[in-house]
Amino acid sequence: QPVAIVCVGMAGSGKTTFMQRINAHLHAKKEPPYVINLDPAVLNVPFESNIDIRDSVNYKEVMKQYNLGPNGGILTSLNLFATKVDQILGLLEKRAAPDPEKPDKKPIKNILVDTPGQIEVFVWSASGQILLESLASSFPTVIAYVIDTPRTASTSTFMSNMLYACSILYKTKLPMILVFNKTDVKDASFAKEWMTDYDAFQEALAQDEAGNAFGGVEGEGAGSGYMGSLLNSMSSMLEEFYAHLSVVGVSSMTGQGVDEFFAAVQEKAEEFKKDYLPELERKR
Ligand code: GDP
Ligand code: MG
Repeated sequence: QPVAIVCVGMAGSGKTTFMQRINAHLHAKKEPPYVINLDPAVLNVPFESNIDIRDSVNYKEVMKQYNLGPNGGILTSLNLFATKVDQILGLLEKRAAPDPEKPDKKPIKNILVDTPGQIEVFVWSASGQILLESLASSFPTVIAYVIDTPRTASTSTFMSNMLYACSILYKTKLPMILVFNKTDVKDASFAKEWMTDYDAFQEALAQDEAGNAFGGVEGEGAGSGYMGSLLNSMSSMLEEFYAHLSVVGVSSMTGQGVDEFFAAVQEKAEEFKKDYLPELERKR
């Protein structure tokens, strides 16, 4: 049974480039994935996709016709596309099963899904939810949360990004892999350290004077006052969150870390079957 890998992340974190990289990796292994692009606003997709939202909805036309801005345009395009979810699942299930007429055509092992640049449109919309739930009801589904590592190097952006990832975990209730991307620019070891060593993060906080980064009073560091106690509570909450995650550093530019990513996918797919599936079935 194929695993569905859904790439989410802030605009510019490198979702599309990452998709291109893991797609090329699977092609090189002679295991071509099934590729779905759900970003209606993207100008060029650097990989060949089997299903492209742009083939069925014209984002520019949707904006014009409904008099919408960019986010409204993406949302409405997703809504229009979500009405076809049964057809999509039909296609996927066909490709996931052996074809008796074409025995050399191997069933797919991976489904890759790219999502709109604006993460909130996908994760917080009804249609995004429908698409995710439909996928997860048919295939083991994991979220790859792609992070722009060089832009997450300060303690405050790091903390905000982790809280966001946590909220997505809570919203989707699917196993998650944190993909620290762009390690060719900045190594992800600092992030791994902050996630495993509480003292190291506290030290970095003190150094970054996070009080200022959060708009606090000059000279009032993270260790003091309201910001300090808030940060402390958030850190212990995040410790619990980190315990359930896989973390990998990758460079979509050079391909470094991609094997490690697929190892994490295997692990999370098992977890999906063991922990998430019974929960999904219980709800049905
Ligand atoms: P998306 O909005 O999340 O789909 O992000 P894109 O894939 O479009 O990438 C945004 C920018 O980051 C582009 O300029 C990419 O070339 C760049 N980028 C993506 N991955 C990497 C990487 O691993 N290393 C470096 N140096 N740049 C990257
Ligand atoms: Mg993109």
